[in-house]
Amino acid sequence: MKLSENSQRKIERFFREFLQDENFRLPAIYFYAGKITEIFTLISGSNGITFGKRIFIMPQLVTLTANKQKKLPEDLVVHEITHVIQYQSRGFVKFLYVYLRDYWTNLKKQQRWDANSRRQAYLSIPFEIEAREAANKFLEWNENRIEKKLNSEP
Ligand SMILES: [Zn+2]
Repeated sequence: MKLSENSQRKIERFFREFLQDENFRLPAIYFYAGKITEIFTLISGSNGITFGKRIFIMPQLVTLTANKQKKLPEDLVVHEITHVIQYQSRGFVKFLYVYLRDYWTNLKKQQRWDANSRRQAYLSIPFEIEAREAANKFLEWNENRIEKKLNSEP
């Protein structure tokens, strides 16, 4: 599955502003939201998982537009694309290594292994903090954009 052209353009524009890089282009990303992805996301307990340029989105989060096109939640897409960018700047293996190392370090600090501690360890991974920040900034950015549009209408 690919992003709709509309979402693609909007998200690319957001990242240009967010990264302050006029030349930023979204890489070719492929989205998955099928049965296997459902199992994946259920096991990991997250809404999305990114491997390189492949993004897996929990199928329950995919909605349909009025003309029956599949639509992905854009803030989640921005979160996962931030991981794509992190993969690109660190390299695939290095990213996974640092990600898992940070998770493990966080978990050890808590000295507890229950679901809540695992969740906290996950949320405190710097790559995750960065991705959540991008998604929040996107929501703000998108809202301002809609407001501007409304204000400019007579
Ligand atoms: Zn994430």
